[in-house]
Amino acid sequence: GVRLRDVRKSFGHTEVLKGVDLDVAPQEVVCIIGPSGSGKSTLLKCINLLERPSAGSIWVEGVELTDPSSDVNAVRATVGMVFQHFNLFPHITILENVTMALRVVKRISAKEAEKIAMRQLTRLGVDSLSHMRPADCSGGQQQRVAITRALAMEPRVMLFDEATSALDPELVKGVLDEMKSLALDGMTMVVVTHEMAFAREVADRVVFMDDGRIVEIGPAKELLANPQTDRLRDFLSQVL
Ligand code: ATP
Ligand code: MG
Repeated sequence: GVRLRDVRKSFGHTEVLKGVDLDVAPQEVVCIIGPSGSGKSTLLKCINLLERPSAGSIWVEGVELTDPSSDVNAVRATVGMVFQHFNLFPHITILENVTMALRVVKRISAKEAEKIAMRQLTRLGVDSLSHMRPADCSGGQQQRVAITRALAMEPRVMLFDEATSALDPELVKGVLDEMKSLALDGMTMVVVTHEMAFAREVADRVVFMDDGRIVEIGPAKELLANPQTDRLRDFLSQVL
């Protein structure tokens, strides 16, 4: 699971995370919703140390990431992240995109890494693309590859930051279905999304963030049906 205590992040003089406390249980799926600029992406990036919190503590699977002596590579191997814009390396093949972290971070041999990568690519239905470059694949295919690349590391937690926002509408469902099947397999997930139907159906709990703080948190269906604050009510009236 994941535990956040009083997590703060400032850029210059601007505090964009203003003390976030959150516990995500093993195998739990938590969706984060909230207006643009509320700090959702910054919070996710703190959970795999793409951003260092300015203050506060974060634990993943009982290991404190914010301990200065913690091994950043080990953290990255435990926490997989999928972004809106796929972030695949453009100049290398799909297969190489998936094997790279296995070889560099986990120091797995090229041959073994290819075996793991092909198994995962097959699972996501994109093994036939292994020798293509990202630009020659559709957005939906690229996002499946990005998910594959994260899963190949055998993470304990998966973070998704608006993973379907950049996709053509007809490709969204396929990727959401992969995320749902991952959730059903018992993956611990923190998902920033604008897909309210996904949040309602798949999330155990939903977090509503505004202005760097968690404003509401609760069981998905309950929170979405009965917002307790004007801020969440306003937000939902704009997105639903
Ligand atoms: P969106 O829904 O638009 O993706 P968000 O909730 O993910 O928004 P963040 O990207 O976390 O919001 O940004 C929160 C605030 O922090 C914004 O005001 C943003 O401008 C600021 N911010 C984020 N990253 C940086 C950075 N590297 N340097 C300076 N300011 C930043
Ligand atoms: Mg964001």
